[in-house]
Amino acid sequence: MSIKLSKRQQEILQIVKEDGPITGKQIAEKLSLTRATLRPDLAILTMAGSLDAKPRVGYFYNPQSETKKTTANLSKQLVKHYKAHPIVVQKSASVYDAIVQIFLEDVGTLYTVDEEGLLAGVISRKDLLRAAIGNNNLEELPVSVIMTRMPNIVTVQPDETLLEAAQKLIHNHIDSLPVVREVDKEQKRYEVIGRITKTTITRAYIEMLEI
Ligand code: ADP
Repeated sequence: MSIKLSKRQQEILQIVKEDGPITGKQIAEKLSLTRATLRPDLAILTMAGSLDAKPRVGYFYNPQSETKKTTANLSKQLVKHYKAHPIVVQKSASVYDAIVQIFLEDVGTLYTVDEEGLLAGVISRKDLLRAAIGNNNLEELPVSVIMTRMPNIVTVQPDETLLEAAQKLIHNHIDSLPVVREVDKEQKRYEVIGRITKTTITRAYIEMLEI
């Protein structure tokens, strides 16, 4: 999680971004405060990595340290704290119903489950578009015919990091990952307990940068 900065700390950060390198004394003058008053705030900003300080130079803003911090954070955050609700349909549901579901739930990907409620497949928007072209009986066509099916589904576990999830999304050229709990490791049987999408990762990234 990002640190919530006080109004004064944000002001200091802004001054250093615009005028750095700048001494503590100069920052204090700009804010009409004493250096002693500012000392704890400067210490917090320096420890958090938002500011760097060099003796005889002063405080300066280091965008690279921000980036490093964000990357470090992304690799510490766990999937289980960011996952969204999975939108699931039976694999026997029709393509027509899946299209309705995509609109109703405002999602880009649906997960399908078998009779036992375990992960069977993934259906993306393009899967549905492909099925809809030249097929005029979408109410009769089960999604199981068009879905990407197990064991080819890329999944993520709740205790994996957001960085690992982001890497899986990018390396596999996909928009979403079902978050799963293993029911039977050898048989690759999974219960779907959430979803991680490109939106999830983007939101986490923004949260970390909005200090
Ligand atoms: P779209 O097809 O709308 O661009 P994606 O890029 O997510 O959406 O999907 C591309 C293809 O990859 C589709 O055929 C979809 O079924 C499949 N797919 C999507 N997510 C996964 C996943 N987690 N594991 C395996 N295949 C997936």
